[in-house]
Amino acid sequence: MTERVLTGDRVTGKLHLGHYVGSLENRVLLQERYESFVFLADVQALTTHFEQKDLIRSHIREMTLDYLSAGIDPEKSTIFIQSMIPEIAELTIYFSMFVSVNSLRHNPTIKAEAKGRGIDELYYGFLGYPVSQAADITFCKATIIPVGDDQLPHLELARRIVRRFNELYQPILAEPQALISNTPRLVGTDGNAKMSKSLGNAIALDSTAEEIAHKIKRAVTDTARVHKNDPGHPEICPIYAYHSAFQPGHLPEIREGCERGTMGCSACKERITKALEQLIAPMRERRAYYAARPQLVDDILITGTKHARGIAKETMKEVREAMKLDYFSH
Ligand code: ATP
Ligand code: MG
Repeated sequence: MTERVLTGDRVTGKLHLGHYVGSLENRVLLQERYESFVFLADVQALTTHFEQKDLIRSHIREMTLDYLSAGIDPEKSTIFIQSMIPEIAELTIYFSMFVSVNSLRHNPTIKAEAKGRGIDELYYGFLGYPVSQAADITFCKATIIPVGDDQLPHLELARRIVRRFNELYQPILAEPQALISNTPRLVGTDGNAKMSKSLGNAIALDSTAEEIAHKIKRAVTDTARVHKNDPGHPEICPIYAYHSAFQPGHLPEIREGCERGTMGCSACKERITKALEQLIAPMRERRAYYAARPQLVDDILITGTKHARGIAKETMKEVREAMKLDYFSH
């Protein structure tokens, strides 16, 4: 069997440049060689957005357009909706029996996200979302998981869950591996360490040329650099991080101009604006194609979800047998 690639994104807003360099770009490459799955994590979105059902609903199609415009090819990748695979919820429950609450409470990403969102009371579903993620991955026995570095603790837990399940019952599940890109965490335009949908510091993949220019113009730079000719500190500047992620070939020259004070921030910003426009322009064209064909987009989701569901049913049959929960099948 060829290895399977899988990743999902929470349906909490538009996909952005962080998703692109952290994960999407790799998914587009990997779909050429592996059986690939991409899913809209609407259940996981509920862990923090359970009161905002309209937001999730309205973003399902938009996010599908994000995928298609970024180059996810529905002929090569299965695109599906998480909540429409109830077997994932079932598997989550089984896994949850042998995952300790402490291991979740001490998960560094859970801690950072709870703190970042000002969550002082941990909800059961939020605390347990890494367990549900392990089910997302294992229902189709995916082994290659292209993700940003915030996902590493979750992948480690998924591996532990698989090992434990295989040891407790039968060795039927596959251990997943994180695939980290060259830019494991893209900084936000506000200087926050992570560009994120929920933090409002992102450049969306559906941006117009004007929106890109505007966001870059307003992005923070090296705050100590007041005058154009002051020497800058590239390592603390988000714009430099964007050059590094999107046009690494130009880095030495940009660094020199910044450090010597021979290139001002606005010239530096103009250059990255141009590079981002070049990246996003072809995405805009693909988006327009699919946006004009809503029935086609729905069909892609329906077909993908059906395919994923078939696989989930097969795996759950094996899981139930392994756990001796297959009562009436003999
Ligand atoms: P939310 O605030 O809803 O959690 P998010 O922007 O963190 O949104 P997710 O849906 O949680 O997005 O993440 C989807 C995938 O994209 C994950 O693999 C995550 O690691 C990756 N990712 C998200 N933001 C970045 C980023 N700034 N840099 C690199 N990878 C990222
Ligand atoms: Mg996230």
